[in-house]
Amino acid sequence: MTVETSIEYIKGIGPERAKLIRNVLGISTVEDLLTFYPLRYIDKSKVYAIKDLTAEPENEIQLKGKVTELQEIAYGNAQKRLTAKFRDQSGSMELVWFRYSKWMKEQIPLNREIFIFGKANLFNGSFSMAHPEIETDEKKAISGSLLPIYPGSEKLAKRGITNKLFQSVIAEILRSLPAIIDENLPATLLKKLKLIGRLQAYYHIHFPADVQHAEHANRRLKFEEAFFFQLGYGLKKQHQKTSVPGNPFPIIGENFKHFYNDILPFDLTNAQKRVLKEIRTDMKKPVQMNRLLQGDVGSGKTMVALLTMLIAMDNGYQSCMMAPTEILAQQHYNSVQELVAGTGVNVKLLTGSTKASDRKIIHEELLSGELHMLVGTHAVLENVVQFRKLGLAVIDEQHRFGVAQRAKLWAKNKIPPHILVMTATPIPRTLAMSFYSDLEVSVIDEMPVGRKPIITAHRREKDRLSVFRFAKEEIEKGRQVYFVYPLIEESETLDYKNLMENFGHISDFFEGKNVTMLHGRMKPAEKDAAMQYFASGKAEIMVATTVIEVGVNVPNASVMIIESAERFGLSQLHQLRGRVGRGAEQSYCILMTSDKLSSESRTRIKTMVQTNDGFKISEVDMQLRGPGDILGTQQSGVIDFKKLDLVADGKVIKVSKLAVDELLARDPHLQQPENAGLRKYYVQFYKGKNKWARIS
Ligand code: ADP
Ligand code: MG
Repeated sequence: MTVETSIEYIKGIGPERAKLIRNVLGISTVEDLLTFYPLRYIDKSKVYAIKDLTAEPENEIQLKGKVTELQEIAYGNAQKRLTAKFRDQSGSMELVWFRYSKWMKEQIPLNREIFIFGKANLFNGSFSMAHPEIETDEKKAISGSLLPIYPGSEKLAKRGITNKLFQSVIAEILRSLPAIIDENLPATLLKKLKLIGRLQAYYHIHFPADVQHAEHANRRLKFEEAFFFQLGYGLKKQHQKTSVPGNPFPIIGENFKHFYNDILPFDLTNAQKRVLKEIRTDMKKPVQMNRLLQGDVGSGKTMVALLTMLIAMDNGYQSCMMAPTEILAQQHYNSVQELVAGTGVNVKLLTGSTKASDRKIIHEELLSGELHMLVGTHAVLENVVQFRKLGLAVIDEQHRFGVAQRAKLWAKNKIPPHILVMTATPIPRTLAMSFYSDLEVSVIDEMPVGRKPIITAHRREKDRLSVFRFAKEEIEKGRQVYFVYPLIEESETLDYKNLMENFGHISDFFEGKNVTMLHGRMKPAEKDAAMQYFASGKAEIMVATTVIEVGVNVPNASVMIIESAERFGLSQLHQLRGRVGRGAEQSYCILMTSDKLSSESRTRIKTMVQTNDGFKISEVDMQLRGPGDILGTQQSGVIDFKKLDLVADGKVIKVSKLAVDELLARDPHLQQPENAGLRKYYVQFYKGKNKWARIS
């Protein structure tokens, strides 16, 4: 037997059952069975005494005693139940069966020592047990360990594949285990972290002597999983750092200096300065940079990106900046263009709707090197877009690429460009530490000075008039207001109708004010015009769907009213709220909801009202939605951990990452004898499974 042996060859399974087990539970090899971890355990290792039961026990317990009376009691419409008096040396209790057969009744021995097993219920001061298991043979009743209950095994019980069968085949595998698995973690690591050995872990996870043993096994197996996951990323990162060349940018030149000293309209925050230094240090080296820039909405990531692009330019390289939507690309382009106007920096915008004639110019200028910075959407990736010297790619607002897209970007220069990925909203620490583990991480954890925290309030339909009046007052003070409506997913036509109706109501109420509108059906040029109308201050009110969600920057807008806020996710709400609070004025976010809220929406709304901290919000979001949703479609389905829980096991992930960092620092190629087991396991079993290997 090896870990790869098919389960049909295990005693007690055979081809028929193997097929069923494979189809229903996805288990096909010995290894799959070994890692088919119990859902919970039952304890038949101890025998309790009735008098020792004080509170209702949480789990099933075993008692030893005699049934002294057996009685059928009629109740309801021809219903009967069977009750028994059960005595041990310390006291007595009642047993009850609501469903039973005549045969079963006859099997219950009277006045003979038996073992019963079940959940004891406390009612009016006395204990009883419903449907206990009965065992007459002491050897069978008392087990030397806790007994595993396997998940989903009930689905197969009717077809003869019972939990008992799993217990016995797994026990069978465990007997052969020393011959088929090796330790895969170095002894020093086990010792340092007080982890039990691999073999022991498998024994103790399936048949633990007690709860502590099960916990130790759990800890070890979780760690192992986290560790090899981190090792995959760690090796990838190491490869990038040592083997992927990059263009060194040693110079801080005239363009950067001029911009920084004469144009930059504010002082950078300390966090921005620190992050810029980290980026600088990376890009000085002849090694490709792969860096993740984390920062809350409005923390000034875009400025950091622009400064980074100026460094590339001073070193004779072009850069590109990619955004996920046209609006956002346009917005970046506008702000970059405005900031660098008159400095000799040539920046252009390329999106799906760029005119052919403009495209032609862009292509030419990219090839000649005249164009220094290209801002755009995915259109930038197209093969026809060729650079003379691409040195830096900034990928704004977290949207991870597939391998193909990554290859396209890298191929745009002989030596791949430095990569700076920016997230739209903070991602939870455990996710940053796991799924972005191959990137260096920079965090902007400070907001520009003078920002007043946004005041967030929850309002309902009955408050509508006062909300509208409040918005009016703000407009009178010279501010601007957003109204955002959720998409009705079922129908784009309905969405549109809904938006139009509301647009009408708002135009009526705010008579004399200019109201503009933004929605997904509009052509890019129309969107752009609407955006400009609002950004220039000509319109006081913007009525929009979530197309304005990401990145839009109109500092004079100070009120964000989100309609049907219960229908938005947390990170979306946070993004939307981030559209205000961008200027010096006090800003407000008003979450309008219906009266009835699910408990999850209530949590979301409450979180929004309580905190402006995107990092905190991301944690709550992950608890509500789970990591798969947060990572997005690209990543969903890759989280197939058996033991590790990305939401709950932050500490294990942190410890495993540290352990991998230390390991690779000491033994980058896993060549020390101590790491032989680890290396063998990684190469043999792990590498092929590392399907989450991804790109920045
Ligand atoms: P995000 O991190 O969400 O991308 P932006 O880069 O769009 O944030 O910045 C939000 C706003 O803050 C912009 O108007 C930007 O010009 C401004 N800003 C950025 N850095 C600072 C700073 N250090 N001091 C003052 N304002 C800043
Ligand atoms: Mg931004």
